[in-house]
Amino acid sequence: MNFELTEEQSAIKDMATRFTAEEITPYAAEWDENKTFPRETLQKAAELGFGSIYVSEDHGGIGLSRVEAALIMEAMAYGCPSTSAFISIHNMATWMIDSFGSDSLRERYVPDLSSMNKISSYCLTEPSAGSDAASLKTKAELDGDHYVLNGGKAFISGGGVNEVYVVMARTDQGSKAGGISCFVIDKDTEGLSFGAQERKLGWHSQPTAAVLFDNCRVPKSNMVGEPGDGFKIAMKGLDGGRINIGACSLGGAQRCLDDAVNYVKERRQFGQRIADFQNTQFMLAEMKTNLEAARALLYIAADKVSRQTIDKTQWAAMAKLLTTETGSKVVNDALQLHGGYGFLMDFPAERFLRDLRVHEILEGTSQIMKYVIGRELVSE
Ligand SMILES: Cc1cc2nc3c(=O)[nH]c(=O)nc-3n(C[C@H](O)[C@H](O)[C@H](O)COP(=O)(O)OP(=O)(O)OC[C@H]3O[C@@H](n4cnc5c(N)ncnc54)[C@H](O)[C@@H]3O)c2cc1C
Repeated sequence: MNFELTEEQSAIKDMATRFTAEEITPYAAEWDENKTFPRETLQKAAELGFGSIYVSEDHGGIGLSRVEAALIMEAMAYGCPSTSAFISIHNMATWMIDSFGSDSLRERYVPDLSSMNKISSYCLTEPSAGSDAASLKTKAELDGDHYVLNGGKAFISGGGVNEVYVVMARTDQGSKAGGISCFVIDKDTEGLSFGAQERKLGWHSQPTAAVLFDNCRVPKSNMVGEPGDGFKIAMKGLDGGRINIGACSLGGAQRCLDDAVNYVKERRQFGQRIADFQNTQFMLAEMKTNLEAARALLYIAADKVSRQTIDKTQWAAMAKLLTTETGSKVVNDALQLHGGYGFLMDFPAERFLRDLRVHEILEGTSQIMKYVIGRELVSE
């Protein structure tokens, strides 16, 4: 058992850390305040391969494992969790096309997605199908050599802005999860439209909108995998997605812990540094301990997802549960250590608090993570 990063992993982490310091951290507060979508920064990230981290090299990906992906997501979230998570979702959708799409779909879509000349969205959630995603109702009916889609998706990251939509829709009314298929749909397809941009607590550097289908005709050849494979493909995507979202919480929490350590050494009350109160040191000690424990679990889970072990889904769920809840608590404690200043936009903690909150909700809520973990424990 060796818990050290390899030389290559350290080099990737350093590269992502440098990129974040130069291209993300200086601008993230402005993106948040003005709701700026940093398209150029995403393309710069893609130049380093971050748009296609675990996509195969034959179509422009960099073919790394989920551990390296976690290191990259964590590093970028140190500057901006919202932007890092957005890149994660693009990686997940792109990987689904690359792993399960036909050769012709891969050739048509993956190179542009790898360079992030085009960006992809993952479209599973519907207004009445959130945690119970397999109950989705968007219909895809065969008509000659096209499927005709009707219905709608809610909360889609990149909705209305991204060029490519990886959509789960029902091709068979008779069965629940087994009746769902996966399609790649271009933004300019007739019958595809978008809702208004959602107004959110955080994640301001990325757009979120409903994606709507009104007799939207999609060539049969745009199906990813076989009819009925869609839900399985969507869930496989989520194993890695959950690792990445957890990594985004770790990166954001680490930033806030580092900021808090610096702040308590500067700030004086009662004639001494607040760093010298034992309560402060105990709080920092707990933050550090919990963060490192969550990080260790996440790297183990990432390795399991890379190796496709039989228990990977359960471990990815445990990692998401622990990292996202720990991350939010660490950020909240960091804000507390800043006193009233933590509540002001002059310090980053409040932005990280708002950005990390949604990590406990999307790609499966904490309650759904417990359901996935517990279900495995009691299954015969
Ligand atoms: C900013 C943002 C971006 C998003 N991006 C995307 C995206 O790109 N693509 C996409 O497909 N989706 C996306 N989502 C949707 C997200 O995945 C869902 O919001 C999430 O899965 C929860 O679904 P819901 O909101 O319908 O909540 P519900 O499913 O209605 O849940 C409400 C509450 O009930 C609890 N609950 C539900 N079922 C159970 C159960 N069996 N046991 C115990 N408790 C339960 C939940 O944990 C939660 O607390 C995004 C959401 C947000 C907020």
